[in-house]
Parts: sequence; structure tokens; C-alpha cells
Amino acid sequence: MRLKLPTSNTFAQIRNLLEDLRLHTVCESAKCPNHWECWSKGTATFMIAGDRCTRACQFCAVTTAKPLPLEADEPQRVAEATRRMRLKHVVITAVARDDLPDGGAEHFRLTIEATRATNPGIVVEVLVPDFNAQENAIDAVLSANPEIFNHNLETVRRLTPSVRSRATYDRSLEVLRTVKIKRADSVYTKSGLMLGLGETETELFTAMQDLREARCDILTLGQYLQPTLKHLPVVEFIPPDRFQAYGDIARNMGFVHVASGPMVRSSYHADDFSLP
Ligand code: SF4
Repeated sequence: MRLKLPTSNTFAQIRNLLEDLRLHTVCESAKCPNHWECWSKGTATFMIAGDRCTRACQFCAVTTAKPLPLEADEPQRVAEATRRMRLKHVVITAVARDDLPDGGAEHFRLTIEATRATNPGIVVEVLVPDFNAQENAIDAVLSANPEIFNHNLETVRRLTPSVRSRATYDRSLEVLRTVKIKRADSVYTKSGLMLGLGETETELFTAMQDLREARCDILTLGQYLQPTLKHLPVVEFIPPDRFQAYGDIARNMGFVHVASGPMVRSSYHADDFSLP
């Protein structure tokens, strides 16, 4: 597949704005292949709580290192960037902070609240780590009322131990299930799977069904790409028509919104899902 690189100067404006406000994005840190497209359209996904992750997932390019202390003014800087970028739908993610008792949940809460206060009417989507499924951490994030609560399952059950670090398949399902038990339909839950890591179709459909049983509302399916030679190799490149077929199957399973395609990532075109 070949992608045409956009040529607008919005890309440089976004880069300058993020530098000015000293913010990290998962677009850069995870070497997302959509970096050019999204920034040229004036959007980005903020990555809070630093750029050093306490986990070492085998698919992810974010640096693993001892994290630095949280920055108390970061929530306000995210709020200000959201305002300057005139976002109507903001996606906020974070590195895993297993060094903090709450996994960084309170920092999420503060960031959501600051962003909402500065940007009335904004749709807030969070993409959170598993917080070790601690209920008080999930409660802290939910208390700021994000409209969309995203936590990625990433891959099928069999491959989880070799793809993810510390996270487990069942714990991720538990996080999503807990959110729905606590908030029912007042929040949309979302999850994503990377394809091409060696999963079978049967395993994929089981993972999709497991997500539905956890009452997950929104699903993203995208092609895994190896970010560096140190990361897991791609086992298979899934053709676009199969992504389309998987998307149809997911809709038939009851997901209210599905994005499925080779370039789809958790936050890719996140604002295509409009709240009813
Ligand atoms: S898909 Fe998400 S992470 Fe990738 S560049 Fe776009 S906004 Fe950033």
C-alpha cells in the first residue's frame, strides 16, 4: 500500500504548538504511520504522564524507562492545546505508570476536567492503561465523565503473553466490563485489536465476542506494523477486503461503531463516531 503525504502547513503548526506547550503525543512516541495525515488535518493524540513507560510491550515503540515525576501543570497545557487546535473531540492517552499507586488515574481525571473547563462542549475520549484493574483508579477516571473510555485488548488471548507486557487478556476485559457495570450507557466503551501478529480468524472472532460480552461498544481493527527491528515481526499483511469483512462481522455482533482497515489505530479518525 502506498500513502500520499499531505503537503499543508498545518503539520508544522501542530508541531510548533506541541513544542511550545511541551506536550507528548502517541503519534510521535509510538511512531504511528498516520502521523503525517492526522497532524496535517490538525489533530493529534496527547500522551500524558510523561514519555517513559513502565511496561515493555513487544509491539510498542514508546520508550521503557523509569518515569519522571508528574508535571502538575500538564492538565492545563493539554487543555490549552485542545483550545488552540479547536478540537471538538480530543483523545488523551498516557504511558503505563505502574510506579504510581493509582497508575496515573488521578492525573487523567485532572486532565479531563481541565480540558472540559477550557473547551465547553468537547467530546473527551480517553485511552487508558489497565491500572491493574484497580477499581479506585477506574472510578477516578470515570468521575471526570469522559464520553468514551477506551482500553485496548490489543491481540487475541493466545498471543497476549508474547505481545503485551504485564497486561493480561482477562484483566483488560475486566476493565471494560467494570466501566459498563459502573456507568452502563452513560459512557461508550471502546477497544482495539492489531491484526497480522499470527492470530487465526477463529481467535479473532472469539476476541471480538469476548469484547461484546464485556459490553464493549466500539471496536477498532488495524494492521500491526513493526515499529523497529527490535519489535515483533509482522506475520501477515491482511488485505483491505478482509478488514472490510471483519468490520461487517463486528457490526453484526452488535458493536455500535467499527473502524476496520490497514491504517486504523485506536485514535485514527476517532471523531468519525459522533455521539447520538
Ligand atoms: S492515528 Fe492516532 S496516534 Fe496515529 S497519528 Fe493519528 S491521532 Fe496520532
